[in-house]
Amino acid sequence: MNFKSIPNEYEYLSWPEVKNIAENKRSTIIWPFGAIEQHGPHLPLATDGIFVDDITNEVLKLLPDEIPLKKIPTQYIGFSPEHIGFDGTLSLSSQLLISIISEVGKQLSDVGFKRLILLNAHGGQISLLNTAARELKKIAPNLSIFPCFLWSGVVGLNNLVSKSELENGLHASLSETSLMMEIRPDLVGDERPYEDISSKIPEGWSLEGDAPLAWSTKEISNSGVIGDSRGANKKLGRRFKKIIN
Ligand SMILES: [Zn+2]
Repeated sequence: MNFKSIPNEYEYLSWPEVKNIAENKRSTIIWPFGAIEQHGPHLPLATDGIFVDDITNEVLKLLPDEIPLKKIPTQYIGFSPEHIGFDGTLSLSSQLLISIISEVGKQLSDVGFKRLILLNAHGGQISLLNTAARELKKIAPNLSIFPCFLWSGVVGLNNLVSKSELENGLHASLSETSLMMEIRPDLVGDERPYEDISSKIPEGWSLEGDAPLAWSTKEISNSGVIGDSRGANKKLGRRFKKIIN
C-alpha cells in the first residue's frame, strides 16, 4: 500500500520511505519543542509550540522536497515548573523529558538517521535540552544532535526592541505578544499586562544573566506576564517573524 506523503512530515511516510530517507548520508530529523504553560491572561497555553510549529513549517516550505529532512510531531508538553501555580500549566519532570528524548532519539539513530535537530521555543528548557542531547549522545554515538533555541542568535533582534525588553521581557511580554498577533491574531486577548520585575527581586539579583536566580513566576508576577506587553503590535510581530525565519 502506498501512502501519499505530506512533504517533510515524518508521520505520513510509510516504513520503506523512512528506510530510504534514513540511509541518505545527510538524513536529518527536526523535532520541535514547545510547552503547555500559562502565557498571561491574553495568550494561549500553547504559545511556544505554536511559534515553533509555524517557524519550522515556514522553513520547511523553502527547502526542496528531495532534501532528506523530516519533521517529527512537535513535543507540546515540556518542562515548565516555573509556571506551576497558574491554572492550565502542564509540566513533565526533567527526568521524564530526558527519557523521551533519549528513547525516541535512539530509535531514530538505529533506523539510520544521521542528524537530529531539537528546535526549542521555550526558554525554561534550554539547559534541559542541552543535557538531554548529551545523554542521548552517550547511547547514540553516531547521531549528531543539535539542541537549538528559537530566539537565540537571531540577528537584528537587538535593533527591534529596547534594552529593557531584552533583559526583562522574559515571558508573554512585548515580543511574544507581537509575534502571536502576526501568526495567530485570533488567539490574542485584549489585556496587555505590565509587570515591573525589578521591584520584586532584591537589588543586584537577576532572573537571567551571569548569576541567574532559579525563579517561580508566582513569586514575581500577578498576571503571569514577565515584562511589558503594552506596546505589542502586529507590525513588530511581522518583523520578528522575518528575522527568526
Ligand atoms: Zn513563551
